[in-house]
Amino acid sequence: MTVAYFQFNAELNDFLPRPKKQVKISYSFTERASIKDVIESFGVPHTEVDCIKVNGKNVDFTYIVQDEDNINIYPISATNLIQSKINLRPKRLNIISFVLDIHLGKLATSLRLLGFDTLYRNDYDDEELAIISHQQSRILLTRDKGLLMRSLVTHGYYVRSTNPQQQIVEVLRRFDLFNAVSPFQRCLRCNGLLEPIAKEFIVHQLPETVQLQIDEFHRCQDCGQVYWKGSHYERLQQFVESVLSNGN
Ligand SMILES: [Zn+2]
Repeated sequence: MTVAYFQFNAELNDFLPRPKKQVKISYSFTERASIKDVIESFGVPHTEVDCIKVNGKNVDFTYIVQDEDNINIYPISATNLIQSKINLRPKRLNIISFVLDIHLGKLATSLRLLGFDTLYRNDYDDEELAIISHQQSRILLTRDKGLLMRSLVTHGYYVRSTNPQQQIVEVLRRFDLFNAVSPFQRCLRCNGLLEPIAKEFIVHQLPETVQLQIDEFHRCQDCGQVYWKGSHYERLQQFVESVLSNGN
């Protein structure tokens, strides 16, 4: 019988059932298989993997698993995603931008509020998401492991939390983005950038109380949505502060 031994390191264990966490796993096989396929058969998307060592030597995802191989798999961390040499990542990301699957609408709004370039539509299908991520080098955020197992997706992240408030903190931590936060720069509706606009140009669109009380406005360059510091602003400001307090 042919057998190989797999050890998943650090947060890659999040994907494994309890008996397989933090232990060397024996994997018996009869058919030729790439290491990408075997890793993903354990439920670990390749997008979470930064480095694979077989018998102490680095290999890429096409490596064919051999009898008696000792395999160590290491996760991507915030530092090696952005800064250092990356073994299995096809290219370094200098600019962080995102595309999100349809279930992460609240996270998308939070990312836009904090200034991050975030594509989101509630009608993107899996194929479109994979293509957008690939073509635009956008990090695909999803809770669908199968989507991250597509070969086309090279930069992706499985969002662990199901709570939107925790998800935004998780993503900022993972990609080391607390210092990159630049709130109130983007349209929450469409991701367009905001620009200052003189009141006289948009006064006809405003509710009467706003016409009387507010003088400073911004408008989305893409969809034309007008923003001002109204009653909702304080709530958003508090949200931003509560998120940023996790970065200390
Ligand atoms: Zn807009």
